[in-house]
Amino acid sequence: MLKGKVAVVTGSTSGIGLAYARAFAKEGANIVLNGLGDAAAIEKERTAIESDFGVKCLYSPANMLKPDEIAGMVQLAETELGACDILVNNAGIQHVAPIEEFPIDTWNTIIAINLSAAFFAMRAAIPGMKARKWGRIINTASAHALVASPFKSAYVSAKHGIAGLTKTAALETATFGITVNAICPGYVWTPLVEKQIPDTAKARGMTEEQVKKEVILAAQPTKEFVTVEEVAAYAVFLASDNARSITGAMQQIDGGWVAE
Ligand code: NAD
Repeated sequence: MLKGKVAVVTGSTSGIGLAYARAFAKEGANIVLNGLGDAAAIEKERTAIESDFGVKCLYSPANMLKPDEIAGMVQLAETELGACDILVNNAGIQHVAPIEEFPIDTWNTIIAINLSAAFFAMRAAIPGMKARKWGRIINTASAHALVASPFKSAYVSAKHGIAGLTKTAALETATFGITVNAICPGYVWTPLVEKQIPDTAKARGMTEEQVKKEVILAAQPTKEFVTVEEVAAYAVFLASDNARSITGAMQQIDGGWVAE
């Protein structure tokens, strides 16, 4: 479905981003991986994408805190693979603390990675998309782009900001064959979430199953995690030609979270 297209996925060395990269590659797209992590593990993921799907896969070490490196990542796709047709802004981090105790540096870092990086990447990618009259920009927002939770001020603010940026970019690019959408997952089963469970279980004197259902999934009516494959399948659909009229949309995939 995406043969010949090039997808740049930020934060794709782990979790949802890696699932996007593999799902786009499965559809024939060449990939630029990006994210932090162990160099050998990243190289293993990169070569696995090439051998599993018969596509080209490059790695950009761009730090999402650095606008020039973000522009360089888009340029890498354009010079080495011919284009940046699909841009997925996915890199993200979290910190949980009351506002009055929230470290100022952490606020700035979360706004930079979870919000400003998407602006810098779009700024670099949109000119090429406009020139080619085709583009797909997909931002991983969150249920927290639509509703809040306490103690997540920076994350919720950045994700609400992503909602505004998504809609603005959609309006600016609507006549150029470009769509801009946000996917709003609820809790997704990723290494990040998985790692918290044993400690939380110990701290609260609960079983791991109780922690999943009664603590982490308290806000998610299905009481089931969304899977990374489900989120990636949504992104593949948004990149397809059948989704050409979907733009500026906030696409919920949250087990009913924001319906409550
Ligand atoms: P994850 O920790 O598995 O992945 C985060 C990715 O971002 C990693 O590849 C990491 O290396 C990268 N990253 C972090 N800081 C970076 C930086 N400075 N420069 C470049 N890359 C950087 O987490 P995930 O759960 O897969 O999250 C991916 C996205 O999905 C995030 O935007 C997150 O907010 C969003 N999300 C996650 C959930 C969930 O429950 N897991 C729910 C809703 C939204």
